[in-house]
Amino acid sequence: MTDEQIKQCITCKEVKPLESFPSRPSLPDGREGECNSCRSLRRKTGDGYLKERLRKHYYRSGGKGDLTLEQLREIESQKRCTYCGCVLYDEIRMVDHVYSLGQLWSLNCAINMVACCRSCNSSKRDSHVYDFYQRSDKFTTAQWEEFVYKFARRAMRCEPSKEELEQWSIGFELEAKELKEYLQRA
Ligand SMILES: [Zn+2]
Ligand SMILES: [Zn+2]
Repeated sequence: MTDEQIKQCITCKEVKPLESFPSRPSLPDGREGECNSCRSLRRKTGDGYLKERLRKHYYRSGGKGDLTLEQLREIESQKRCTYCGCVLYDEIRMVDHVYSLGQLWSLNCAINMVACCRSCNSSKRDSHVYDFYQRSDKFTTAQWEEFVYKFARRAMRCEPSKEELEQWSIGFELEAKELKEYLQRA
């Protein structure tokens, strides 16, 4: 085993193979500093991990983040992927921004955050959620309706009516079109 394939965990200080660390393509070695087992242990015990996420959220929103610990707990305890509906376990669980942070209409706030699987997170990237629904085979109509319902309920802070849900769904579709036109002009 060469040096490149192992790494020391910043938490338990154990030297482990690279595969034992969550992947993070933006880092030099493509892996996070804390190993998978330390991370999942932290998820199960205490709020340290969640508070760290809150801090990052606050930082990225330039101090305007409105996410609370309760909301983050709810997102972290979501059992299934928002988009494809697969069962989420620690290794594939990600927090996704429905309106991605690098995109037009980006929103770093609580209503914009959902749990999803690693595969949906990476294939959705910066695309509009409606476009992702259109092109992903696993993002079914039932999943879409559930997504729209939950998003609208978070945004409106009450139970949306059937008519309101239709409006939300059409709204997402129009936005996606608008975004495409905007990107073509740019
Ligand atoms: Zn560790
Ligand atoms: Zn998924």
